[in-house]
Amino acid sequence: MIVQPNGTIGILGGGQLGRMLATAAAQLGLRTHIFCPDDRAPAFDVSSAATSASYDDETALTEFVNAVDVITYEFENVPAGAVAFLNTMNAIVRPGAKALQISQDRLLEKDFVNAIGAKTADYHAVDNLDSLNAGLAKVGRPAILKTRRLGYDGKGQTRITNEDSDISAAYQQAIKFAWAEVGAEPSILEAYVPFEREISIIAARGQNGDIQLYDPAENVHVDGILHTSSVPASISGRTAEKAKTVAGAMLNELDYVGVIGVEFFVLADGDVVVNEYAPRVHNSGHWTLDGCAVSQFEQHIRAVAGWPLALPHRHSDAVMQNLIGRDSDRWRELAAEQDTCIHLYGKCDARAGRKMGHVTRIAPKG
Ligand code: ADP
Ligand code: MG
Repeated sequence: MIVQPNGTIGILGGGQLGRMLATAAAQLGLRTHIFCPDDRAPAFDVSSAATSASYDDETALTEFVNAVDVITYEFENVPAGAVAFLNTMNAIVRPGAKALQISQDRLLEKDFVNAIGAKTADYHAVDNLDSLNAGLAKVGRPAILKTRRLGYDGKGQTRITNEDSDISAAYQQAIKFAWAEVGAEPSILEAYVPFEREISIIAARGQNGDIQLYDPAENVHVDGILHTSSVPASISGRTAEKAKTVAGAMLNELDYVGVIGVEFFVLADGDVVVNEYAPRVHNSGHWTLDGCAVSQFEQHIRAVAGWPLALPHRHSDAVMQNLIGRDSDRWRELAAEQDTCIHLYGKCDARAGRKMGHVTRIAPKG
């Protein structure tokens, strides 16, 4: 199904990713309709239509389905019930339910990556103290315990270090953390990967199976939150190709339509290990807005609308820096910097840890 100009893309979720998707859609002459429970979502400012309702409001969802040509989403935790309901209405949802379902559960995600022959950290499912102990015996220490579902920006995970002599005490601490974050949910224990750097691939697959991959970005996280994404990444061509091959295989295996973000650890020998994927546009791809002719947002809209994908040519070197919490108070100073593209998301409350905007510093491609 192809969405013609003046058609409408429905977007579940109204955060900054929805906002940038809606802006890209408008540039292509497409309308957007945002569905989001918040009544002051950042994407509402720039969309053609908005529904503020809960994801289990079937009346609102029905009206939404009838008002749009195709549905996409800007966050991976779309409730399974909403996806199932949209399915009963024969709504077209891109990327599909499989990509969403796997990415919502770190255990399914690791199983999936290994099944396609790519590498992950060693891991073990944890549901109680016994399975945690079994997991530590298997993957060793240091290790990271993560909730299987709903973790983001480093939330819902805790490290179990080498120094902990008492596994049981570390477990109590880990469980306490997990409880505080998301409640006592099933978890996964991962071996700590001694990575040299982190990279991500932003890739797209069109309705006809065409795949386009942007240059890998090198990512630095601070306190579990993405701080900077730099392009080009300091990696060999061989490492870049390995990561691109994995991302392409994932897209095909998921029969994916849209943009995906795949995070990798790069080891000292140049090999790549998949950390996780996001079935959506990704924070580490924001540099494409200013570093490429066609951004990840436009590419995603092209894919879900059934349009041809663009070649992901990069015309600039770029360093994207997130503006977290009060960082955005410096907007005046940042706006005065030359060759710095400033993006503010229109959020009113600069809470600590909240993504308020980003800047991308660009230079001619080196
Ligand atoms: P989130 O969903 O919060 O982004 P991630 O699984 O990507 O969670 O973890 C956040 C960050 O924590 C990663 O980008 C990486 O820096 C670090 N990290 C996560 N898992 C591992 C691991 N197994 N080994 C080493 N570092 C890790
Ligand atoms: Mg991550």
